[in-house]
Amino acid sequence: MQLYNSATHRKEEFVPNHPGIVKMYTCGPTVYHYAHIGNLRSYIMEDVLEKYLRYSGYRVTRVMNITDVGHLSSDADTGEDKMLKGAKREHKTVMEIAKFYTDAFFEDCRKLNIKRPDVVEPATNCIPEYIRIITRLLETGYAYEAGGNIYFDTAKLKKYYIFNEHKEEDLAVGVREGVEADANKRNKADFVLWFTKSKFEDQELKWDSPWGVGYPGWHIECSGISIKHLGEDLDIHCGGIDNAFPHHTNEIAQSEAYLGHPWCKYWFHVLHLNTNAGKMSKSSGEFLTVSLLEQKGYDPLVYRLFCLQSHYRKSLVFSFENLDNAATTYHKLVARIAALQPEPGETFDEEAAAALRGKFDDALGNDLNTSLGVTVLYDVLKYDTNAATKLALLDEFDQVLGLSLREAAARARAEAERLKKAETGAVVVTEGESNAEAEALALARIEARKAKDWARADALRDALKAMGFAIEDTREGAKLKRL
Ligand code: AMP
Ligand code: ZN
Repeated sequence: MQLYNSATHRKEEFVPNHPGIVKMYTCGPTVYHYAHIGNLRSYIMEDVLEKYLRYSGYRVTRVMNITDVGHLSSDADTGEDKMLKGAKREHKTVMEIAKFYTDAFFEDCRKLNIKRPDVVEPATNCIPEYIRIITRLLETGYAYEAGGNIYFDTAKLKKYYIFNEHKEEDLAVGVREGVEADANKRNKADFVLWFTKSKFEDQELKWDSPWGVGYPGWHIECSGISIKHLGEDLDIHCGGIDNAFPHHTNEIAQSEAYLGHPWCKYWFHVLHLNTNAGKMSKSSGEFLTVSLLEQKGYDPLVYRLFCLQSHYRKSLVFSFENLDNAATTYHKLVARIAALQPEPGETFDEEAAAALRGKFDDALGNDLNTSLGVTVLYDVLKYDTNAATKLALLDEFDQVLGLSLREAAARARAEAERLKKAETGAVVVTEGESNAEAEALALARIEARKAKDWARADALRDALKAMGFAIEDTREGAKLKRL
């Protein structure tokens, strides 16, 4: 697979550290509010990456943190803790907020067919890991204590800016409006590993540490959790593009300083979902959630398709008009799949499968070109082969794309049948196991009664009796019961 690596700024052949095995880490949500559909764009695209790697035969272990402490309202370690802000807003404890929004996040993921990572670890579970890493960083001179906090000394590194060539004076660190510069820092880019002193005294969650009672910085949690569960090397680290700096840059700094060797091979960053007004963000308070889309009548998987229709390395503008287009595409695609009726005895067409699998690999294997992957679904529908092969291949590709196409097609078919029967008033229900022949006779009897052909209706009743069925006429239609 060719994958763009933000650390090297180019597409590379994906070669994991250990043959056949992929260790993948994802920055999880900060659980102080609902995830917005921008956050979920990142998780959808990461999910497709994970599923494509599994489809390609890799054994993937994916770990995700849940940020329930340490993420301040400015990524530059200043401002209020986002969790505390959420707790105050809702008059609840931080842990109550964390539980509520973690559950809400995974419920959104379920609706969007985003697989739950193999390991999900709340940041508050791993305090000893952070203390161990920080202790070593202090011993080796990469960290220092100032004003009660522990900082990482970025000047100790040969190369700190991995993803972009920031100039110090350009940094947002400490210079954002309303954000005070931290006078304890030796260098502007230094960041907090452990807080014991900060301007808010009402921090709810605090732990004992060799440096006093306090709490970890946001960046250290991802290094600690990744190293705890995936060991000293990592194949892919994912996140939205806003995480590249400072969060991921700081993760690399502290992890490599701690380990003494390179840490993560590939960095996968998803570009933002924007509205016409700019980036969708939780802190702005104006954002769209999955529940809101549902309230407006959209199937969440329509949003998933909307995301798949554009490349993860391009920013994507959300509008309801664009979502409506995705809904039309989804429903048309599902209707075409619903119309596929395999004939008895159809066998799997290996030749067609090889050609279509090749196309799918050309799309997904080329830096996860999901929009081309979606067009391969149409190639399958158009291909000169039997319906059984088409359905099997659609299932196979949907394991990666996650659009629940077969389930949606079955629902569409059932709905079409219900409407057809409602039109003729000919609804037949069989108690227990259905019997197609008996149901056909019962339908014919309904037609005969409609035509007032009582003799035929009686004859059909007798025929059913001979087959072992009694027929009962109800308001909903005819009910077949076994005698
Ligand atoms: P947070 O809950 O703020 O920690 O963010 C969760 C994930 O969503 C991170 O990977 C962010 O980089 C990502 N993210 C935040 N805003 C957006 C956006 N507008 N579009 C896509 N991804 C985003
Ligand atoms: Zn992270």
